[in-house]
Amino acid sequence: MVLLCPVQSWTPIGTTMQITKIITHVLKTPLGKERFYSSQAAFPERTSLLVRLETDTGLVGWGEGGQYGPPEPVAACIHAVLGSQVLGSDPRNPAVLWERLYSMIRDFGQKGPYLEAISAIDIACWDLLGQATGLPVHTLLGGAFRESVTAYATGCYYRGEHAFGVSEDALQALADEARSYVEDGFRILKIKLGLLSIEADVRRIEVIREAIGPNVTLLADANHAYNVSNALRVGRELERLDVRWFEEPIVPEDLEGYRHLRQKLAIPIAGGECEYTRYGFRNLFAQGCVDIAQPDLCCAGGFSEFLKIQALALAHHTPVIPHVWGSGIALATALHALAATPWQPYTYLPVALQNEPVVEYDRNPNPLRDDILEQPFKLVEGKVAVPSGPGLGVTVIGSKLDKFTVTRQESKSS
Ligand code: CA
Repeated sequence: MVLLCPVQSWTPIGTTMQITKIITHVLKTPLGKERFYSSQAAFPERTSLLVRLETDTGLVGWGEGGQYGPPEPVAACIHAVLGSQVLGSDPRNPAVLWERLYSMIRDFGQKGPYLEAISAIDIACWDLLGQATGLPVHTLLGGAFRESVTAYATGCYYRGEHAFGVSEDALQALADEARSYVEDGFRILKIKLGLLSIEADVRRIEVIREAIGPNVTLLADANHAYNVSNALRVGRELERLDVRWFEEPIVPEDLEGYRHLRQKLAIPIAGGECEYTRYGFRNLFAQGCVDIAQPDLCCAGGFSEFLKIQALALAHHTPVIPHVWGSGIALATALHALAATPWQPYTYLPVALQNEPVVEYDRNPNPLRDDILEQPFKLVEGKVAVPSGPGLGVTVIGSKLDKFTVTRQESKSS
């Protein structure tokens, strides 16, 4: 008699597991008339890079990197340099692989595309480790402090025909947009500034504040549009309008400027989305640069490095609220990290944003986030659920992946 066994969906710890193939997908989808602007750039399309790791067990893991700048250089870092070390490795040892990969690129790639490439590979390894053990990533990170995370809407960019001015029509459209987020259930809204004159941007914020009333929390993000003196001026206006954090007021290289602003302004200073690894965040913390640290897991080094950054942040009593941008894989990644993030500090009844972390929930059009997973994210009573399945707990829809893929490359074991 031959017993037919179901396909084994996990691999017991102790047996071998090897990465046999690395597939990268450069994703792009044009936004047409829905293009928008920050202080730094136009967004005529949404782009990202997904990494698929295949193993000799049949399990497949997903990771993401390259969502800020062009994704192509990140794919090149993977296939031309890092891939040889990744192939044949056991993905259930992500921290070991991380150190190996970083040591390969330390001399020439401590920030930027190489770190985005390592981040994507690391996230895919944690996805595989979770599937191999039958546990969600947040459990592997130490356990969930929460099953869902309060979301803040990121919106009120500079849009369409109203992008570059503050006409009555532009301000009306802005007020309508801000109000729509409140109607959707958000109690926290992050808006953009820094593209226009300080006077025009302050007018925009005044209009948004009038539209949403005093009981919705406002955050503001300049994408490093200012020098220190102008950031001081803007910061005082934000304090007047009861804005609760000032994100990336100045360029990320100006650590002394960050420290100065933090001493001069009462509004909390947030930053770190352009920073990488434990070493970059060590400098932010040691020099007293930020009240809130915003590592992006898809850039700063994946889950393995997030654990180190989080430990540094805890030791400096600095809350960590990850930056999120990209596809549904990036959002799932951030949710697992946030689930495993302690209160800062503990209280009996934690309050969102005050000592309970929140998740960035970009509200700009993004099919890469909304269409690509079998488990779409939903806002329920202002919160987003943390995926509970093994690994990242999400499944990529093949047909949607094909639709958005402009370049597919693979490396495999010889
Ligand atoms: Ca930002």
